[in-house]
Amino acid sequence: MSPAGDDASIEGLRAAVREVMPRVRSDLEALVRIPSCAFHGFPREPVRQAADETARILESVGLSASMLDVTGGEPAVVGRGPREGAPRVLLYAHYDVQPAGDLDEWHTPPFEPTEREGRLYGRGAADDKSGIVMHAGAIAAVRAAFGEVPVDITVLIEGEEECSGPLADFVLVHPEVVQADAVVIGDVGNRALGEPTLVTALRGLVDCTVEVRTLPGPAHSGMYGGPAPDALLALIRILDSLRDESGDTVIIPGFEWTGAPVDEKEYREEIGLRPDQPLFGTGSLADRLITRPSASVIGIDAPRVEGAINAVIPHARAKVSLRIPPGVEPAAAMDALVAHLRAAVPWGVDVTITPGDSGRGALIATGGPAYADARWALETAFGKPVGEAGEGGSIPLVASVMQAAPQAEVLLMGAEDPGALIHAPNESVDLAELETMVFAEALFLARMGGALA
Ligand SMILES: [Zn+2]
Repeated sequence: MSPAGDDASIEGLRAAVREVMPRVRSDLEALVRIPSCAFHGFPREPVRQAADETARILESVGLSASMLDVTGGEPAVVGRGPREGAPRVLLYAHYDVQPAGDLDEWHTPPFEPTEREGRLYGRGAADDKSGIVMHAGAIAAVRAAFGEVPVDITVLIEGEEECSGPLADFVLVHPEVVQADAVVIGDVGNRALGEPTLVTALRGLVDCTVEVRTLPGPAHSGMYGGPAPDALLALIRILDSLRDESGDTVIIPGFEWTGAPVDEKEYREEIGLRPDQPLFGTGSLADRLITRPSASVIGIDAPRVEGAINAVIPHARAKVSLRIPPGVEPAAAMDALVAHLRAAVPWGVDVTITPGDSGRGALIATGGPAYADARWALETAFGKPVGEAGEGGSIPLVASVMQAAPQAEVLLMGAEDPGALIHAPNESVDLAELETMVFAEALFLARMGGALA
């Protein structure tokens, strides 16, 4: 260990990052200009164009790029920089984006990258084209500072993340695609700007549809109402069971969160909840957001209020979604949800419960060497201790990687701060945050490869 020499190397790397930032930014702008939404019904051409542009960017930082045919989906772009005997690092992001949504809500056009007050606006500027350029920028900076990249690099850029494409299942059948010592999932963000964060827990999800059918058609409530079985009332009783008196979901057990606490004021601000409005449930806010189950009714079919007639409702259905704690098996959670709903069926009415989607969460192990290197890299780049955070959104690939490459340490870090408004109008990335994340990832790669002790 030579602290003085390493300090010089760290500063050299910081300077190299600064040098590559103009290219990082222009690459990001080029990607944002391509409306690569892979949702059904959107044109394929821009999706392919974004794949080609991603390949160009990876080649520009010295990797050899190829398209990986993901069965039944848009290709993933793979960049390789082999290095025999060195630690293997896989860097993941995705090049597809959410639809732009309501154009009237955008202050500037979604596919024209525009800078305002240090943020670059545009659909995908954060989620997740920032991840692509973070990886490319880090590789370029390490190469510039040290003359070579001291780890064996694979970059894997998915083309259908936002529409739950086939990659997560593909890697279970082709585990060789994700073999590495460390896998960086660059599709998250720090819990606040300038607050280095490693995401260590992801909730999973199961959902199902509950359908109640009682009568062949509406029955006049004056003539028949009373004994006539009301499908909507029965459904409401069933749905009511999803939360207890205090607003907690008790369908499956959760556990206590030991990472960074969640600030109530910030949480309220992020979702636009007034201070005088209640929060549901008991226990710490982090427990309720990360490590405990949380049930919601996300859709309901029933007659509209406008034009409602005085009739007993013969048919009603609802979609129920259950966020499940990290580490809980989705199949077991689905069984518990269905059994719970069944047990809540009142008055002996006929109910059909149809299981829907499920996604596995993840609880990340934080005791390995790559995790220690990432923690050091983030602390060095931001000059602050690292916090551990949980993410509500599920990233199915994470669970698949943990299954396909059990030896790999999985690290979730990126430039999507809460202000990035991913999936919403006026998505953006903070350019200073992006630069610091490029630096952090560059430090991580150098440290993993032994170029920085
Ligand atoms: Zn994403």
